[in-house]
Amino acid sequence: MTELPARRLLLVHAHPDDESIGNGATMAKYAAEGAGVTLVTCTLGEEGEVIPPELAHIGPDRDDTLGQHRVGELADAMRELGVTDHRFLGGPGRFRDSGMMGVEQNERPGCLWQTPVDEAAPYLVEILREVRPQVVVTYDPNGGYGHPDHIRAHQIAMRGVELAADVEYRHDLGGAHEVAKVYWNCMPRSFIEEGFERLRQAGKEIPFPGIASADDVPGVVPDSEVTAAVDGADYAEHKAAAMRAHVTQIAVDGPFFALSNDLGQPLPALEFYKLVRGKRGSEALEDDLFAGLGV
Ligand SMILES: [Zn+2]
Repeated sequence: MTELPARRLLLVHAHPDDESIGNGATMAKYAAEGAGVTLVTCTLGEEGEVIPPELAHIGPDRDDTLGQHRVGELADAMRELGVTDHRFLGGPGRFRDSGMMGVEQNERPGCLWQTPVDEAAPYLVEILREVRPQVVVTYDPNGGYGHPDHIRAHQIAMRGVELAADVEYRHDLGGAHEVAKVYWNCMPRSFIEEGFERLRQAGKEIPFPGIASADDVPGVVPDSEVTAAVDGADYAEHKAAAMRAHVTQIAVDGPFFALSNDLGQPLPALEFYKLVRGKRGSEALEDDLFAGLGV
């Protein structure tokens, strides 16, 4: 058995690109500091919209090869972040992207939304018991913004953490492991509103046709709910480069970016978290997800 790094962080995400948008600076920072950083992505993002017109043919309504393409984009993004351990839940293509809430793809057999949590969670248990992270990061119960794959990724993460710690559960998946802290991604309302204010002031210099609003941002919460803020300013360029690697999904321009809706958003290197399991390392806002763990 190879020796594990002292600090180990594992993130559970729904699609390639979610990790770079939500946690790119955090991932780059911990990887650079020598921590083990493991990304588990639940689907290939097959149902995503394709931004560059010259790649439109790979979309789900045409060649339907976007998923394979995004495997490559994710690998490029991980190279930018310095993260070497990235995996797809159950292997690449095991669970298909379910599309936005309410579309007919939600009903497609084999998509993540159609997969019972307890059928998908064992794949995560096996990874948790191998990697043995002290810290797990995922979405809130609404998946940040109600996307079925994000909701299911949250459920799989929470169930996986619970089952991984159960000494009675599936010895074939490795020895039981208790995750010390679980965080949900979040965004304090005042911070994101200030970001949008800067974006509005930048006015005509923004290359996007419009500007999004705080309501378009996943996981916005009252400031008081935030328990940790990781300052990834030194890794802002890595985060931007990782986001840019998701060519089909994200357009990056300076300190701003847009998704396929073409609406500009701020691209912050400060990333926020809410501790939902485990002990808070300090009364003040934690600046380190491992705070209080003695590692
Ligand atoms: Zn997503």
